[in-house]
Amino acid sequence: MSDAAVIICDNLVKIYKQADLEVIALQGLDLVVDSGEFVAIMGASGSGKSTLLGVLGGLVSPTAGAVSVGGYDLLQLSVRDRTRYRRSEVGFVWQQTAQNLVPYLSARENVELPMRFAGRSRRERRLAALGLLDQVGLSGRSTHRPAQLSGGEQQRVAIATALANGPKVVFADEPTGELDTDTAAEVVDVLRTVNREDGVTIVVVTHDSELAGGTDRTVLIRDGRTSTEVLRRMSNDGTGESVVAEEFAVLDRAGRLQLPTEYVDALDLQQRVRLTLDPDRINVWPDRPNGKAEDPDVWARPAESEGADDD
Ligand code: ADP
Ligand code: MG
Repeated sequence: MSDAAVIICDNLVKIYKQADLEVIALQGLDLVVDSGEFVAIMGASGSGKSTLLGVLGGLVSPTAGAVSVGGYDLLQLSVRDRTRYRRSEVGFVWQQTAQNLVPYLSARENVELPMRFAGRSRRERRLAALGLLDQVGLSGRSTHRPAQLSGGEQQRVAIATALANGPKVVFADEPTGELDTDTAAEVVDVLRTVNREDGVTIVVVTHDSELAGGTDRTVLIRDGRTSTEVLRRMSNDGTGESVVAEEFAVLDRAGRLQLPTEYVDALDLQQRVRLTLDPDRINVWPDRPNGKAEDPDVWARPAESEGADDD
């Protein structure tokens, strides 16, 4: 998996300091995203989603931990490399439609702007911008200014702009947050198309479970850490293709695991649990009588419980 990893966050910490106040926005976050993946990040407000995207985009410097994107070690970037990184390796789409585009430039000029910064020729810029607008379904809108476009169209121009210099990864922070459901679906379709056709890795922060449902994987962030993940894959049972979603807990590099709250509550687990190892699984038992592991002997014979075929 990590051969193809384009994003690696290892024990990432971000503490914001304001006067004598410290806010821990990320507290040891681990995340690996493979090249070509389309990943949704979900989580309550204040859980650290935007901070994570800011760090990944080279806009926010982490307090501790390691983070690399597309082979760039974001903690070691020189000023020059940081500029190049932001301009060409990654693209951004923000929630506020107005924040993504320059109001007095046409759609085409907006898409060309990052290419100008990258020093590409006028002819090349024009051709590339028109190609990108076509890809997001807006070839007929190239001369329109943002105010003459709908919210969904503006976000599609923003996606084209994010793609201007051929980034490996596009980050989108609640790109459909200000759109109605139908328009949001169009924007998601465009992201999906870009992901599939160009192989661009996409990480999108969203509150919209429908948007998240269309991605390969949803990573849930809780209190500045990744907690659970839902993986989706196509399955064919003979009667046709369908999407199968499976929920996983995240295992960090140190082997730490966070149990889902429902499970912890269901067995009223507190402080410590007993673990036993079977050939194909690890069992987690409450640390109290009536739990299956009340017989301390179980520690001595972890591999010979009822057997591996009882489910
Ligand atoms: P989310 O995007 O999931 O809502 P954020 O990453 O924006 O979460 O914020 C995580 C925490 O960090 C919150 O408590 C927020 O108030 C705090 N925070 C975010 N940005 C700053 C900042 N620039 N200065 C101080 N605190 C911040
Ligand atoms: Mg946010």
